[in-house]
Parts: sequence; C-alpha cells; structure tokens
Amino acid sequence: MSSPLATEFERVSLPLEHAFTIARGTQETAENVVVRIEDGEHTGVGAAAPSGHYGETPATVEAVLPDLLAEVEAVGDPLAFDAVDARLDRVVNDNPAAKAAVRIALHDLAAKRLDVPLYRLLGLDPARTVTSSFTIGLDDTPTMREKTREAVEAGYPVLKTKLGTDRDAEIVRAVREEAPDARIRVDANEAWSPREAVEMCEVLADHDVEFCEQPVPAEHPEGLRYVYERAPLPIAADESCVTLEDVPRIADACDIANLKLMKCGGPRQAVEMVHAARAHGLDVMLGCMVETNAAIAAACHLAPLLDYADLDGSLLLAEDPYDGVPLPAGEVDLSDVDRPGTGARPTGR
Ligand code: MG
Repeated sequence: MSSPLATEFERVSLPLEHAFTIARGTQETAENVVVRIEDGEHTGVGAAAPSGHYGETPATVEAVLPDLLAEVEAVGDPLAFDAVDARLDRVVNDNPAAKAAVRIALHDLAAKRLDVPLYRLLGLDPARTVTSSFTIGLDDTPTMREKTREAVEAGYPVLKTKLGTDRDAEIVRAVREEAPDARIRVDANEAWSPREAVEMCEVLADHDVEFCEQPVPAEHPEGLRYVYERAPLPIAADESCVTLEDVPRIADACDIANLKLMKCGGPRQAVEMVHAARAHGLDVMLGCMVETNAAIAAACHLAPLLDYADLDGSLLLAEDPYDGVPLPAGEVDLSDVDRPGTGARPTGR
C-alpha cells in the first residue's frame, strides 16, 4: 500500500541566454511554475510555462494549482490518468499550462513507480528519433547572421528562424547564406496578412525553406486557408491549433499541426491530438515554450509519434534548474534514456 500523495509547487524565474524576440514581443526571462508530486518513495516533477497569449500568467497558474493538486491528492493514484483528467477539467476550466504541469508530474511519478522511462509507459518505440530545430530569435540582421553561424558551429542541422519584421526577405537570405546545408523552417507568429504571406512564401521557397509556421493571425481561419491554397511550401499551424477541437478546423487549411503540452494541457491530450491530426491527413510537430526541462523532458518522450520537433526551449535558457532528455545536435534520441520517468532531475544530479 503506497503512501498518500503529497504535492507542492514553486515559481522559478529562468534568465534567458539571449533576450528572445518574436513578432509579438521580447522576453528576457521565462517564469515557470514547477510542480512536485510525491508518494513517499518517488517524486514526480513537472512544470508550467504559462503564455499570456493563451490567457495564462505565473499568477494564474499559482492561483489554480491548489485546486488542481487537491484533485490529484483526492484520487491518490498516479496511474489513474483518466480519473485525474476528468476531475482536473471539472474543477478548473481552461488553464492548460497549469494542468500540463500537474499531468507531467503525474506521468513522471507513474513511470517511476513502474520503474520505466515514460516512453515505455506510453508504449512507444525509442528507436524512432526526430531532430529538434534550434530557434533563431528576431534581432538585427547581422546579429541573426551571427546567431545562425553559432548554431551551425554547435552542430544543429535544423534551424527555425523567427520572422515578422519589415526585412523578412533579408533575414531569410542571411540565414540561408550562413547555413547552406541546414533544414530551415520559419515562424512568422501571425505577423503577415494573407497576401503578404503568399508573397513571402515564394521567397521562402526560393531559399529552400522546409515549411512556414503560422503566417497569418489565428483569429481569421480563412486567412490560413488562403495561404495554404497558394503557397509553394508546406504550412504549419501553431496559434491556430491549440486544443483537440481545433484539429478538424485546420485540417483543410494547413499541412502540419504544431502541438504543445502548454496549449493542450498534458501528455495524453497531446497524444489524442496526434491521432486526430493524422486522421485528418496532417503531419505532426511538437513544440514548446521557453521552458525548463522539467516540462520539456515529458514532451521528448512523445518524439516517436512526431514528424517534426521544436523542443529547444531549455537550450535558450542561461541555466536550467533541471536536466532532461539530452538533445545532442538537436536529436531527440530516447534509445539511451533508461532512467525511470521523464528523466527530468535537478541539474548536476
Ligand atoms: Mg510557433
């Protein structure tokens, strides 16, 4: 008979290596909330990386966690995913990052109790690897050139450059010049009008860009479809694809669904979205926020389900209090991950 579950949470302020700029704004630190769930023998860890774009802040996460964690304690069984999921959604609406933190910690604890890595609990094949992109944030063009050179020298073969400036064509040309052999993706974070996006997609295709993420605002779904029907390269939906209900809505308006645990609310919710996306003929990408390995480690265990990964959030931090699944040259390789749970552990331990 196991001990009752004990829970706690803690807000952590994570300075970034470089200020991170996308079309919507700049951040210099990431505010995450780490959740721990203990059963007397093992500790499961997870984290929330709330995004104001989706209506959450560290304060909202801290406000709802006591209610969410009370439900976990009431169920008392870390393997009772269904029961916990239902109770979390009954007690609090929305708040996906807060729920993701709880569910990641629960998955970590459940896998530790079974003494298996999380991918084993999910029944996934660790030999199926995918290479994460490394993100180049917005900056002046010479600095983006320099960041690209550093990423290439660090061995990252897949780059994702942010766009959404008045010199996007210049940026793409510079990044391609510095990384002639890299797979390059771009993310406009809703910055363009549909017509601008179609024009830019021509430029992107000329520079052999692999796909274009979220070219237009999510609030106008017909805009995404307009671009998709005219663009000469694949289109990915991120801000347009938040939860399971969005998958059928974007199915005829893009090629790739970009999922995130912090948008959909947890690992099982992401798996549901993977299968829904595939059923609708979409390829699947899993991304992250700027966030600690305490959260990203769980996402890495879903890599065998993916076509594309963008799981570099911890790599953008100056330091991370947690180690997770290693990403040598961006490769999400689970074949050497034999530590039980997600593999997240305090740095240096
Ligand atoms: Mg994106």
